[in-house]
Amino acid sequence: MRAAGPVPVNLYGLEEEALAALLAPLDPARFRARQVFAWLYARRVTDPSAWTDLPKALRAELAARFAPLPPRVAARHAASDGTVKFVLELPKGGQVEAVAIPAEERMTFCISSQVGCGFGCAFCMTAKLGFTRNLDPGEIVGQVAALLAETGTPAGEYNIVFMGMGEPLQNVENVLAALRILTHERGFGLGPRRITVSTVGLPKGIRRLAQEPVVPRLAVSLVAADAEVRRSLMPVARTVALEELADAVREFGEGRRDEPTLECVMLDGVNDAPELAHKLAKLARRAGAKVNLIEFNPTPALPFRPSPEARLEFFLRVLSAAGVVGTVRRSRGKDAFAACGQLAFLQKP
Ligand code: SF4
Repeated sequence: MRAAGPVPVNLYGLEEEALAALLAPLDPARFRARQVFAWLYARRVTDPSAWTDLPKALRAELAARFAPLPPRVAARHAASDGTVKFVLELPKGGQVEAVAIPAEERMTFCISSQVGCGFGCAFCMTAKLGFTRNLDPGEIVGQVAALLAETGTPAGEYNIVFMGMGEPLQNVENVLAALRILTHERGFGLGPRRITVSTVGLPKGIRRLAQEPVVPRLAVSLVAADAEVRRSLMPVARTVALEELADAVREFGEGRRDEPTLECVMLDGVNDAPELAHKLAKLARRAGAKVNLIEFNPTPALPFRPSPEARLEFFLRVLSAAGVVGTVRRSRGKDAFAACGQLAFLQKP
């Protein structure tokens, strides 16, 4: 047990500038912050006494004053297709879920940005939890560190999607700090094109994301290109007009190699009428975006069924005729309740 005294400062999640400010009174050499940054995020060693390129006395001082505390895996649930959902205990309290989704070519980690979510989308189990708080940068990158360790995935050989619990652009500054650590050459060293931020579509947040020097891919959960249908499923649509959203998406994509994506979780008899396919094609063209149709994962707690295959095919034909790239994302991890929109602790396989 740690002796009574000042509570150690949690270093985990700090960037080099902040580390330098904390380390300066102990050792003014600027490169110390770079060394600590690399231990935390590239080597992912969180015990200061093991940071062997630092002087022994400094290591002891750091171990006494600081406690790098990443999230800790509390439970794991594996689905038969290899997808694994992890429940992570957060150092500041509370839990989130993150999912490792293996594929032939590459592993994908789906991570959370908030504890719970306050956006209330009708098709999402996380909505049932309500919003508790934003995650800090360490709680975000720590999910990646935990999943790397748990799955034995080699550095750089994975994708990250911010499609877990929460709305990342409502927590935009912490998400941006996490992105800087994830893409930093002395951090996780991941290419920005390997990271996708998925949002309900907050134009201000989309524009803020676009201002960063290192920009990830963007996916917008559109669900329907019809204002009334979208409002009935996503409360955020009451305050953000479709045209305003499409224009923010277009601005984001201008001059970039990767087209943004509009995502539609396809719900039988709700957002899959033929006229909605035509509206979707028109909006995607305005937004300069491609479209991803997402297979809905039925769950007893939600009153929706997945759209039949023939309707997905009809949507793809309409999109293609309008010159819009359309794809279907098949659901993964259903039997571990790890699939999209199913992260809510409420369900156990
Ligand atoms: S879909 Fe995303 S934004 Fe909507 S309630 Fe679920 S977690 Fe929140």
